[in-house]
Amino acid sequence: MSRALQENPKPQRLMELLDEATKESAAVKSLHELRELKSRFLGKKGELSRLLASLKDLQPEAKKDFGAKLNETRRALENLFQVAESRLESEALEKQLRESDLDASAPGVFFPPAQPHPIREVMEEAISILERAGLQAIYGPEVEFEDYCFDRLNFQKDHAARDMQATFFVKSAGDRSLILRTHTSPVQVRALLKLAKAEKRLPIRIQAPGRVYRVDDDATHAPMFHQIEGLVVDTQSGMPELRATLDYFFRKFFGEKTKIRFRPSYFPFTEPSAEVDASCVFCQGLGCKVCKQSGWLELAGAGLVHPNVFQACGWNPEEVQGWAFGMGIERLAMLKLKIPDLRSFFENRLSFLRGRVR
Ligand SMILES: [Zn+2]
Repeated sequence: MSRALQENPKPQRLMELLDEATKESAAVKSLHELRELKSRFLGKKGELSRLLASLKDLQPEAKKDFGAKLNETRRALENLFQVAESRLESEALEKQLRESDLDASAPGVFFPPAQPHPIREVMEEAISILERAGLQAIYGPEVEFEDYCFDRLNFQKDHAARDMQATFFVKSAGDRSLILRTHTSPVQVRALLKLAKAEKRLPIRIQAPGRVYRVDDDATHAPMFHQIEGLVVDTQSGMPELRATLDYFFRKFFGEKTKIRFRPSYFPFTEPSAEVDASCVFCQGLGCKVCKQSGWLELAGAGLVHPNVFQACGWNPEEVQGWAFGMGIERLAMLKLKIPDLRSFFENRLSFLRGRVR
């Protein structure tokens, strides 16, 4: 480029520069060429930089005037190159589309929208109802210490649930064997142990949803299934609140007309213990095949926390009271969604998952 003009900068030269750049940028064929062009005009060794360097030799008035023109030219050049870059990019895309097998006019393929698994849906609903009853959802590991699953929950050493036939053992190691948890109750143990040392301990109001595992597999049992349970501990909290909470839960879950009843039962970790029945959702308590004409469906286990459990988890049973309950999510889902075979949940047939076939 013109060496003579470099020694004698003139506004005229800036116009010429812009003209040259306009012609050349319209002619570039590739991004590589464009980069070279940019560096020739705008780079450190480009002509614009040399003109900029020559500013220092000018009189103040001329300096100001020519400096402003230089900036204007720089902006105009940058704009030019930006336009050229967009042109090259769209040319490249067009070329790519022309040369590929892609048929942009082909009709689209319909993918049905995803939806939650029925178990997930029912679980979320149960969690949300219990949250409204003031129970905060917490989670624990599925591979669990045997003593968190049994010993601290007052299971005797020879309890049938500990048998290899009923429980999946991950690692046998005396008192600290690892198993796949057979229920969600060890989450309660973890919460009690943790809060026993906490400064502000009461009240405890939690729910524990999650997967559990048992050696079992038929039309009404699966080796992996889901439970949800609740635990409330305070200086005073007993049967009336337990009953009111479950009453609220089942009314919200199955409908306002749902009634519940407690029947005496036995669990190692509660005393007294109760089986909780809800009025049959199919016959509204009149009697049908599903409820075996009784009008009631057995849906939960519940009771007051056993003093031995408090003791094993670092609490003085004289100072606190608590209640707990547990339910199977699959059973709730089967009744709510009217699904006769438990195994449907785990076969992952798309017709089932999309809700077209129950
Ligand atoms: Zn019924």
